[in-house]
Amino acid sequence: EAPILKINNLKKHFQLSGNRVLKAVDGLNFEIKRGETFGLVGESGCGKSTAGRTIMRLYEPTDGEVIFGGRDVRKLRGAERQKFTSDMQMVFQDPYASLNPRMTVGKIIAEGIDIHGLYRGNKRTERVHQLLDAVGLNEEHANRFPHEFSGGQRQRIGIARALAIEPKFIIADEPISALDVSVQAQVVNLFKKLQREHDLTYLFIAHDLAMVKHISDRIGVMYLGKLVEVADSEKLNAKPLHPYTQSLLSAIPIPDPEVQKTRERIILQGEIPSPLNPPSGCPFRTRCPSAMDKCAQSMPAYKEVEQGHFVACHLY
Ligand code: SF4
Ligand code: MG
Repeated sequence: EAPILKINNLKKHFQLSGNRVLKAVDGLNFEIKRGETFGLVGESGCGKSTAGRTIMRLYEPTDGEVIFGGRDVRKLRGAERQKFTSDMQMVFQDPYASLNPRMTVGKIIAEGIDIHGLYRGNKRTERVHQLLDAVGLNEEHANRFPHEFSGGQRQRIGIARALAIEPKFIIADEPISALDVSVQAQVVNLFKKLQREHDLTYLFIAHDLAMVKHISDRIGVMYLGKLVEVADSEKLNAKPLHPYTQSLLSAIPIPDPEVQKTRERIILQGEIPSPLNPPSGCPFRTRCPSAMDKCAQSMPAYKEVEQGHFVACHLY
């Protein structure tokens, strides 16, 4: 089956003052299959949110293609373009900033319904109630305002808004990072439930590999605007190839102390370099415990080393 989303050499560069260029996203290649959850992870500033926004076309790509449902989204016009904007929805990181404080919850949720003219009158009210129910809230909440809700509830409102026009694909940009640890699991479970019920595909963006590995079928690891490794979630966990992925995994505590003993924590030296001035050759070389001479000279190619397992590193 053809993937629902295919990203070819996607780039988003920002032109800054003084002729500087921020290569926030610098040549991504990956696919997402229908019905799966693809986790995109990396430290803050690695370009993962920019990647999500560029795929959504909130940003115009500098280069590369976004193929959605077999179509190059740049070439969509009129009704097809409309269809794309309803098929792909986003859930944002900050459930405080992303909900208009002057609008009632019902109005916030119905915004997309109104824009696309889907339901009116009683049907519209019914639909809003149905959506509140789907995300674990209730009818009375429709007339209240965002400030009356907790962070977790607000994120449920954001999810209901994204669901309102029956999208096929949801980009969730760190949807639980701003929430209390105690409610994070509930919101993750809600995402899983909705995926089953509504046949959704997710691009799940996070800085925390520990969280993403539980929800994702496959994972892509980003560093300084590039993908360094992509693999099945299980494979990535059991046999990470890239030294950066290995270091991220080594930082996750393992509940079983016997297994924990066998795993060595890999501490990276130094800070993540500025994306305005990335190192020559491999972008990870300034922090890599395995760096060799050639790592400074040439950028490692991004290649498939085993079926479905991609890595960009001179070790392979
Ligand atoms: Fe480390 Fe070299 Fe591989 Fe980069 S290419 S991750 S510096 S070994
Ligand atoms: Mg971000």
